Amino acid sequence: MTAHTFPDPGMGEPFLLTPGPLTTAYSVKEAMLKDWGSWDEDFRAMTRNLRDRLVAMAGDTTGAFTCVPLQGSGSYCVEAMLGTLVPRDGKVLVLANGAYGLRAAETLRVMGRAFTLIDKGDYLPPRGEEVARALDADPAITHVIAIHCETSSGILNPLAEIAAATASRGRRLLIDTMSAFGAVDLDVTHLPCDALVSSANKCIEGVPGFGFVIARRSALEAARGNAHSLSLDVHAQWATMEKTGQWRFTPPTHVVAAFLTALDLHEAEGGVAGRGARYGRNRDVLVEGMRGLGFETLLGDRWLSPIIVTFFNPAHPRFDFAAFYAQMKARGFIIYPGKLTAVDSFRLGCIGRLDEAVMRRVVRAAADSLHAMGVDSAAPPAAALAERTRLAA
Ligand SMILES: *Cc1c(COP(=O)(O)O)cnc(C)c1O
Repeated sequence: MTAHTFPDPGMGEPFLLTPGPLTTAYSVKEAMLKDWGSWDEDFRAMTRNLRDRLVAMAGDTTGAFTCVPLQGSGSYCVEAMLGTLVPRDGKVLVLANGAYGLRAAETLRVMGRAFTLIDKGDYLPPRGEEVARALDADPAITHVIAIHCETSSGILNPLAEIAAATASRGRRLLIDTMSAFGAVDLDVTHLPCDALVSSANKCIEGVPGFGFVIARRSALEAARGNAHSLSLDVHAQWATMEKTGQWRFTPPTHVVAAFLTALDLHEAEGGVAGRGARYGRNRDVLVEGMRGLGFETLLGDRWLSPIIVTFFNPAHPRFDFAAFYAQMKARGFIIYPGKLTAVDSFRLGCIGRLDEAVMRRVVRAAADSLHAMGVDSAAPPAAALAERTRLAA
């Protein structure tokens, strides 16, 4: 990683410890200082380049998969993937253990697609045997949607066993790998699935503005006319791109340019393995340092992702999240509130243009923030630890 300096010269702004938008490289921002015509061959070549590189990143070397970028945030692309690949008379098994799984279910409800939900609560992982049982019990289910890293808790869900259970029952798997793609290995030649979805502003470290669906061509070909929506139609976007090289409606040209620079940096870092290794080191330094201050993680080491980590709020009466947030911001770090329903928590992201040295500064900032608030113990309430033993059970 000799070619990388952290932080980049010219930043001097707070680091975003949030799972997208996140801290991007200076060169990624700089790539946006130029205007492109959406129709022009230069921009069409940029779109082709982006699509080819993302298919390669997903591990496909056979041409069985194609990449369809789509304007909007990640949720637009999840909605487009579900609305396009699930036929109107299809039925989806939604595997939820946090906000993004529940959002997939809500998306299906709004678009009027049949679904059934396995809701594991705030963080317990959906397991292969449960998926197998649910599929055996309901032959009407055509598709399963799984969340790869459930960003609400930071858990890395057991995709391989979910995919095996789904494929062995002859059903189709769709994957929301929004917050993991590009840093956690996902190889479509070994993981049976029809499509996966991610976006520009997560582990590839671009700026927000589009997402992409990487889909099996045969599934996409069969999906013509399925979509409930004009603009959120992956098949129509794909057909137009194949025919004209263009996006159907105004593309986020500057975001695409920034993304191509982000892809160069991703490649220079050693691709998915290199990026994942840096994020893993970020997590290790962060978790070890925070535990050293007395903080406790929601998840045991087995389930911790290199993407984002949930910490319990300290039980100390002088701890207050809003005050802690302000203290951390004053020290140059934007942190993220937690999403657990039973106990109070906060989250720190490991992704974006951050390295171990930055993470050590995060830990120091947390220590100084606690001190400034008069909090002399970061130990969580007993209820939080009781909650955590549910996962071990
Ligand atoms: C970020 C994210 C999304 C998309 O969220 P947007 O706010 O619409 O970009 C979807 N699923 C997961 C798991 C995510 O982390």
